[in-house]
Amino acid sequence: DAAANPVRRHGGLQDKDRIFTNAYRQGDHGLKGAMARGDWHRTKDIVTKGDSWIIQQIKDSGLRGRGGAGFPSGLKWSFMNKPGWEKDPRPRYLVVNADEGEPGTCKDREILRGDPHKLIEGCLVAGRAMNASAAYIYIRGEFFMESDHVEQAIQEAYKAGLIGKNACGSGYDFDVYLHRGAGAYICGEETALIESIEGKQGKPRLKPPFPADVGLFGCPTTVANVETVAVAPTIIRRGASWFAGFGRKGNAGTKLFCISGHVNTPCVVEEEMSIPLQELVEKHCGGIRGGWDNLLGIVPGGSSVPILPKHQCEEALMDFDSLRDLQSGLGTGAVIVMNQQTDVVRAIARFAKFYKHESCGQCTPCREGTTWLEKMMDRFVVGRAHEREIEMLYELTKQIEGHTICALGDAAAWPVQGLLRHFRPEVEKRIHEYQQREGQVLFGGTLLKDT
Ligand code: NAD
Ligand code: SF4
Repeated sequence: DAAANPVRRHGGLQDKDRIFTNAYRQGDHGLKGAMARGDWHRTKDIVTKGDSWIIQQIKDSGLRGRGGAGFPSGLKWSFMNKPGWEKDPRPRYLVVNADEGEPGTCKDREILRGDPHKLIEGCLVAGRAMNASAAYIYIRGEFFMESDHVEQAIQEAYKAGLIGKNACGSGYDFDVYLHRGAGAYICGEETALIESIEGKQGKPRLKPPFPADVGLFGCPTTVANVETVAVAPTIIRRGASWFAGFGRKGNAGTKLFCISGHVNTPCVVEEEMSIPLQELVEKHCGGIRGGWDNLLGIVPGGSSVPILPKHQCEEALMDFDSLRDLQSGLGTGAVIVMNQQTDVVRAIARFAKFYKHESCGQCTPCREGTTWLEKMMDRFVVGRAHEREIEMLYELTKQIEGHTICALGDAAAWPVQGLLRHFRPEVEKRIHEYQQREGQVLFGGTLLKDT
C-alpha cells in the first residue's frame, strides 16, 4: 500500500552518500587508497563490540541481501548463533559469493576491481558477527583482474595486521581465502558453490538443511553476496539510521544498479533504493535510444525476472516490494532496456537458451523443461507454432516453476511467463504471419494442414 509505505526521496543520491566511491577506479584500489577513502577506520572498535551488537546494527539498517533474493541480512547473519553454538566444535565459515553471473549483472565486478578492501574489511566484520574463523571468497573464473585486485587486498591486509591472528589488534583471529571458479553459472547458487569449493561438481543441494546448519565441509556456513558484505563496515561507521534513511520501509539503503541495453550511456551506478525506474534510466544513462516513447520494455532485475512493458516501467520503483507487486523482481538490480527495435520474442528465447545451457541436469523438471522451453521458444521466434501451443508453453513454465531443487528452474520459467503476460499479441502475430506466408498450419513444428 503506497500510502502506508511512502517513498522518502532525497532527490537522488549525492556523492557524499555513496559507499562505493572508487567503483570506476579513479583512485588507487590498494590499501593506501582505500584508507584515504575511509576504509579500515577504527575497525578494531567494530570487531570488539561483538556479534550481537554488529547483528543489531545490520538489522536496524534494514539491509537486505544484494545477491538477488533480498533476504534480511541481520536475520541471516544471526542463524549461526543459535543458543548453545559455543559447544559445537565445528569451525564456522563465511562464504562470499563473488560468482556474479546473472546476465545483465556487473555490479560486484566494480567492487572487486575498485574497492576490494571494502570487501575484505566487510568479511572481517560479517565474520565476527557470525563467529566465523575464516572467509572463503568464491570468485567467478572469468574475473581475472578482479581476482588479482582481491588477492592483492588480502595480502596487504595480512601484512598490515588487519586480518589473520589478532585482526586489527582486536584479539579476534580471522583468515580470508580466495577461491577461483571455472565458469559455471550454477556455481553462483549457494550450495553448488559450496560443493565447488569442496572440489566436487557444482550441483545444488536440497535445502534444508540450510548452510547455516550444514554448509562448507559440513560446518555452519553463511553465504552472502559481495555487495552485502562490502557495505557492512560503512553502514556501521555512518550509523544504521543513516542507511535506513534511504529508500522506503522494507527497502532501505543505497544499491548498485547496472543498466545495459538500449540506453545512450550504459553504466553501473549507486543510487537510493526505491528510485523510480524511469528516473534511474533518464538521469544516469542519457535516456533510451530513440527517446522514452521508443521504449518497448525493461527487465528490471537480471535475466531471472519477467520483463515490464513500457506503461509499468513508468510506475515501477526500483525496490523489492514495488517490483514484486508488478509481478517482476528487483533481483540483482540489473536493468536491461529494450527499445522498440528489439525482437522481444527472440530476446526471451535467448534467455531460455541460456538457462537450458546452464542447467546442472540433476532434477527432471529443470533438465527436461528447459530443453523444451528452448525448443519451443526457437519455434515461436519464427512463428512455426500453433496458437494452442501458447497455452502449452505457459503450462510448461508452470510444470517447472516451484518443482526444482534450486531457483534456476524458476529463473527459466519466469521470463517466458512475462513474455506471454505482456506480449502475447506479438507471439500470436508471428504465428498468423507464418501461416499466411507459408500457407501451412503447424502444430509442434509438424504440418497439420496446407491452407
Ligand atoms: P533463497 O530465497 O532460496 O535464499 C536466500 C538466502 O536466504 C540463502 O542464503 C538461504 O540460505 C537463506 N535462507 C532462506 N531461507 C532460510 C531459512 N529458513 N533458514 C536459513 N537460511 C535461509 O534464494 P537463492 O536461491 O539464494 O537466490 C535466488 C536469487 O539469486 C534470484 O532471485 C536471482 O535474482 C539471484 N541470482 C543472482 C545471481 C548473481 O549473479 N548475483 C545469479 C543467479 C541468480
Ligand atoms: Fe540443477 Fe536445474 Fe535442478 Fe537447479 S533446478 S538443481 S540447475 S537441474
